[in-house]
Amino acid sequence: MASFCDASGQPIDQGILLYFAAPHSFTGEDVIELQGHGGPVVMQQLLARCIELGARLAEPGEFTRRAFLNDKIDLVQAEAVADLIDAASAQAARSALRSLTGAFSQQVQALTHDLADLRMLVEATLDFPDEEIDTMRDTDALARLDNLRAALAALRQQARQGSLLRTGLTVVLAGLPNVGKSSLLNRLAGAERAIVTEIAGTTRDTVRESIQIEDIPLHVIDTAGLRDTDDAVEKMGIARAWQAIEHADVILQIVDARSGVTAADHAIDVRLPTGVPRLVVENKCDLARRPAVCRDEAINGRLQTHIALSAKTGAGMDLLHRELLRIAGWQGHGEDVILARERHLAALAEAATRLDAAAGITGQIELCAEELRLAQEALAQITGAFSADDLLGLIFSRFCIGK
Ligand code: GDP
Repeated sequence: MASFCDASGQPIDQGILLYFAAPHSFTGEDVIELQGHGGPVVMQQLLARCIELGARLAEPGEFTRRAFLNDKIDLVQAEAVADLIDAASAQAARSALRSLTGAFSQQVQALTHDLADLRMLVEATLDFPDEEIDTMRDTDALARLDNLRAALAALRQQARQGSLLRTGLTVVLAGLPNVGKSSLLNRLAGAERAIVTEIAGTTRDTVRESIQIEDIPLHVIDTAGLRDTDDAVEKMGIARAWQAIEHADVILQIVDARSGVTAADHAIDVRLPTGVPRLVVENKCDLARRPAVCRDEAINGRLQTHIALSAKTGAGMDLLHRELLRIAGWQGHGEDVILARERHLAALAEAATRLDAAAGITGQIELCAEELRLAQEALAQITGAFSADDLLGLIFSRFCIGK
């Protein structure tokens, strides 16, 4: 227990000072931590005094950057710190925490390790063509490669789920006036006690709102907001919304259950991108006196999912949730979900492509070895640790070449 004093020696607060000697701190450096008892005002005074004495405020992410530079954490863990801070749901926070404690890194490292082992076998075949281990088949290289591909596929699946938790699903609501777009949006938001937020930038007219279903963020774009306007700010918001629509994950085409899909509904159709999955929502099934159902209907030989529901009574909303999550590919609350970023997904995809290529090459060991090398390089990008010496070190430490 100590007194923290101001410049004139007057105590500001009583508290404790903790000293973390390098390298046993988060950043790996010498760190002191002051803990006071006072409220925000006293804390401000304490902070001001520290700055007076020569300290400065940390830049955003500075502690994490220092921890990375001092090899206390890898890139994935550094990103996980940011994800933990930004986590939009309890599930996302749990996943970020898992990444932070190194669960994702460990899986990537385990894959890298097995891949390095496999490369060792393959490269040995290259270096010593006359030795007995002269083909992939003589060793268990092919079986190992298959195992690696399976493990990588599983990891990609976990990472894709995590990416969904991070970035969510963009959903477009399209339909004629009065079919119930706003009611559906409110029902989606309200029933889930979702946080309805305006996306910054679309100040005049909210054409985009974010809600949540089962921890998955849904970014809903209401095409009602996409009207002709002279307002410059609104125009920008609308242009952005159309861009988002091009990349939307699903379009909800809302029609009145009493009339079904009409010619006027078709006219809206043509403005929407063709490549995006669609669900036809037949709203107001209560007025049509029809039960809430989900069924597939063939239109011009193409199967289209129709959901009859009522935004007013809430009947059939569970069917809509289920279909949205199915389209998203969400497989539920696995504790092993990885809060992946685009960068991780891309690197995992690259590694998978390389492993597939390696498996497809028969007879040309050099090419196969090169693909395996590139696969390892892709994996190493994830954790930020790659050195060409890695493999050499491994080969020489494990292989009794000298004998
Ligand atoms: P929007 O113009 O497409 O956004 O449609 P609104 O959400 O404003 O709905 C138009 C009218 O239909 C409102 O009076 C709603 O109360 C009503 N409405 C919307 N959905 C339903 C529904 O499922 N059942 C019934 N009975 N009325 C609905």
